Amino acid sequence: MIVQENVSLAPFTTFRVGGDARYFVSASTEEELIQAIKLAQERKIEVFVLGGGSNLIVSDNGFDGLVVKMDVKQYRAEKTDIFTQAAVPFAQIVNLAAEKSLAGLEWAGGIPGTVGGAVRGNAGAFGGETKDIVKTVTSIDIKTAKKVTRKKEECGFGYRESIFKHNNEIITEVVFSLTTGNKEDIISKVRSNIQYRLERHPHDFPSAGSVFKNVPVENISSAKLRYFQESVKTDPFPVVPAAKIIAEAGLSGYRVGGAQVSPKHTNYIINCGNAVAGDILELIEHIKKVVKEKFDIELQVEQYVVK
Ligand SMILES: Cc1cc2nc3c(=O)[nH]c(=O)nc-3n(C[C@H](O)[C@H](O)[C@H](O)COP(=O)(O)OP(=O)(O)OC[C@H]3O[C@@H](n4cnc5c(N)ncnc54)[C@H](O)[C@@H]3O)c2cc1C
Repeated sequence: MIVQENVSLAPFTTFRVGGDARYFVSASTEEELIQAIKLAQERKIEVFVLGGGSNLIVSDNGFDGLVVKMDVKQYRAEKTDIFTQAAVPFAQIVNLAAEKSLAGLEWAGGIPGTVGGAVRGNAGAFGGETKDIVKTVTSIDIKTAKKVTRKKEECGFGYRESIFKHNNEIITEVVFSLTTGNKEDIISKVRSNIQYRLERHPHDFPSAGSVFKNVPVENISSAKLRYFQESVKTDPFPVVPAAKIIAEAGLSGYRVGGAQVSPKHTNYIINCGNAVAGDILELIEHIKKVVKEKFDIELQVEQYVVK
């Protein structure tokens, strides 16, 4: 196992910002992963597991601990189940499902990142969520280095939520359970979801997707809800899209340094080329403040801030 020091994390994130990891390990076996955890225990430093870096804001000060990136990327289909290691890009699982005529993952077409990141955040789109297809999740506890396999019901899944957001665990393997479908239909749905994203989301600049969670209607006063009545959508339950709230607050195109609220999709912050993490974090605080003042709504950040 090679332990690197002072490794820039910006190239590992889709935002392309952030400082260095004090230590960095690329673990290509489970033994190396456990070795890395033990090293962190010995040195009394924190461990952060990096997936595809597509839901992260790494602060400009970086991370004063050990960043682990797993490099174990095997996956296979058996009947209607897919067995995959957590570091596999989610897109490869979407492709495998389509190739094997397995339905249930079409909504995920175009979501970047790894399987581990998708399970941890219960990633979702177009009415689908990762939890819908999870059968079991295996993880390793960072404190004890012990391995546990949980059934879907034991994973505490909710809207962009799971037990893995709160426990200090590294997801290593996932089993997805799909159903037999029609190959052409599956491919066509995946393609149309990717096309939808290409047309409506800003792809010309680095970003980390949607910054804020959509807001459940019960969290908005009835007086303010009337602004948004037309925009309520039921995905995965009645919510007002954060993009709509930010646009109504007059923040489309608002800029702090090199970070901007995308005029194409107002729940995306884009790195116009020279942003630092501080610009993005300051812009987030500004959006939260203006939205609170205008609509008395507390926006919640979906992305993980590494500091
Ligand atoms: C253009 C774009 C579009 C997007 N669209 C969507 C969308 O439609 N829906 C959606 O839900 N998200 C979307 N996202 C956000 C992101 O792609 C997902 O949240 C993705 O699942 C994150 O996975 P990742 O591997 O990149 O995680 P990372 O960004 O690397 O990490 C995110 C968090 O997960 C943790 N993590 C990663 N791997 C593991 C593991 N093995 N074990 C434990 N914890 C782990 C990290 O420690 C971190 O806390 C989008 C992002 C972009 C850039």
